[in-house]
Amino acid sequence: MCANISEVFNGRMQTEQSENAPPTRRSEGMRKAWAKRRMSAVMEAEWLQRPICLCGCGQILSRHPSTERQPQFRRGHDARLRSLARKVLRREAEPAAIPEIARAMKSRLAFLLKEPELAKLF
Ligand SMILES: [Zn+2]
Repeated sequence: MCANISEVFNGRMQTEQSENAPPTRRSEGMRKAWAKRRMSAVMEAEWLQRPICLCGCGQILSRHPSTERQPQFRRGHDARLRSLARKVLRREAEPAAIPEIARAMKSRLAFLLKEPELAKLF
């Protein structure tokens, strides 16, 4: 968990440096990848200010003083997101059904670490 968070912040610093580098085809791809990561970092920062359940139900969560321990789901709702991801995997649901915020927060979702085939959907 700690490693993932510091990786995001290091990534943001590297993005600012690479924006000054001369544009090449390769750095353009890199820039887009970093822009996506930066967007995820912004979404995560906003979410930490006002955390809602990542399953997509939209219920507000109580804020934890430690961002690393901030709950991501209402009790049992991680199972809902997990079963949604499984449906997408079986083409029984649209990939768009996975909430954007859940994609942005994928590095925090413990169940994805155990199931890399689901992580690819995020
Ligand atoms: Zn929920």
